[in-house]
Amino acid sequence: MAIENVAPSDPARDPSHPAVSGRRMSSRYPVEVIRSDRRNKTVSAKIVDGVIRVRIPAWMTAADEAKFVDDVVQRIERERKSNSVNLEGRARSLAKEYALPEPESITWSKVQRQRWGSCSVGSGDIRISDRLVDVPPWVLDHVIIHELAHLVIPHHGPEFDAIVDRYPLAERATGYLMAVSDRPR
Ligand SMILES: [Zn+2]
Repeated sequence: MAIENVAPSDPARDPSHPAVSGRRMSSRYPVEVIRSDRRNKTVSAKIVDGVIRVRIPAWMTAADEAKFVDDVVQRIERERKSNSVNLEGRARSLAKEYALPEPESITWSKVQRQRWGSCSVGSGDIRISDRLVDVPPWVLDHVIIHELAHLVIPHHGPEFDAIVDRYPLAERATGYLMAVSDRPR
């Protein structure tokens, strides 16, 4: 995968940073940072031979570089993890187990940051925040069941709770998600 042409943060004015920033380790991939030509205004990142290769403009400060590399590594690892979760399969088997309708589609959302999931009742499309790629499967299941339940009852209330509370780990999962929400991102 490749993330190209991402606009860098504020152009740096410090010309004294080193030309080669070297390597560092992310949780899975080594990261190689290459400072490119002065005229180059874009940053890019892709995985080359198991290394996340990040190209940044020569004028970027070390602080900007660190922030950009962190963001990019996080995005790449989220993508990798989200590819390893069979969201549709989970939704299908949970729908069967809890006698709920199957969604028309269920996909990861990269933009959804405030909510764990959303359900468009009309179209039957469910979106799950990719912040959940890191949570244990039983927590993800809780969110999926919640969204599947919205296909039956659009609003929250006692009737809705009666459906989702059939999941034995509902309360524990809710607590887990509250703790994750409090974590600074
Ligand atoms: Zn809801």
